[in-house]
Amino acid sequence: VARRLEGKTIVITGASSGIGRSCAFEFARAAPANSLKLVLTARRIDALRDVAAKIRAEVGDGVKVLPVQLDVSSPDQVRAFVAGLPDDFRDINVLVNNAGLVKGVAKAPEIAEQDINVMFQTNVTGLINMTQAVLPVFQARPDGGAGDIINIGSIAGRDPYPGGSIYCATKAAVRSFTESLRKELIATRIRVMEVDPGQVETEFSVVRFNGDKAKADAVYTGCEPLTPDDIAEAVVFVAGRRENVVIADTLIFPNHQA
Ligand code: NDP
Repeated sequence: VARRLEGKTIVITGASSGIGRSCAFEFARAAPANSLKLVLTARRIDALRDVAAKIRAEVGDGVKVLPVQLDVSSPDQVRAFVAGLPDDFRDINVLVNNAGLVKGVAKAPEIAEQDINVMFQTNVTGLINMTQAVLPVFQARPDGGAGDIINIGSIAGRDPYPGGSIYCATKAAVRSFTESLRKELIATRIRVMEVDPGQVETEFSVVRFNGDKAKADAVYTGCEPLTPDDIAEAVVFVAGRRENVVIADTLIFPNHQA
């Protein structure tokens, strides 16, 4: 894996916490001595700077880390982000579309318009914004282009549950978009892959309950969820395969989850 990641530039969205943050560490650990370049993005720049400092402290200077504030739901910000990357980080090889959220638990007719919009604009439009902005970098390479897009979907996109209709619909949209794009890009060296987590303990639940920590923690009582590292290890694995190997679709559950 280290050899295949050597010299690569990896952009991760939603790297300020949870799965995205873990992906940053796992990539850095996978190739610490091999001049990997990591671009960490999210809205909370202080948290990104903290992740960057901790990665440097753990793996040293073999990995270059650039934290950049970015709201994926803004097409203007996304375009400016790609156009404004410093020379060292412009040549993106891997995009991990991880930024996403769930807002509220409610039956479909009761879901607030604002929550519907923020879920679609982040989970779906945000992922499409990033993809459209980064693909030209991949396609500028010879023979139709090269690069990896790894989209973080969810079991919710395959097995919808009551109370989560909008979130489940966003993740079904991610799945559909990913599959269409993969087929559009067949016969190029651009790989489009999806990793779908089951239940993972992160800030996800805190965001879902609008900051109510007691309700958020209750989600994880009586079960042993996955850790963000469990997902990050899979993301690094799929990115580290030989160029002709496409691990198109990965579903990861904790043992208790049906
Ligand atoms: P977290 O809440 O810990 O992380 C979500 C990340 O997304 C944060 O870094 C947040 O950063 C970022 N984010 C949210 N909105 C935006 C935005 N508009 N622009 C840029 N970044 C944004 O949750 P997880 O790590 O659990 O979630 C990561 C992904 O995994 C999501 O796509 C989620 O749907 C998916 N997933 C999670 C599961 C779980 O059980 N936890 C299960 C299945 C899928 P900031 O606030 O700084 O912008």
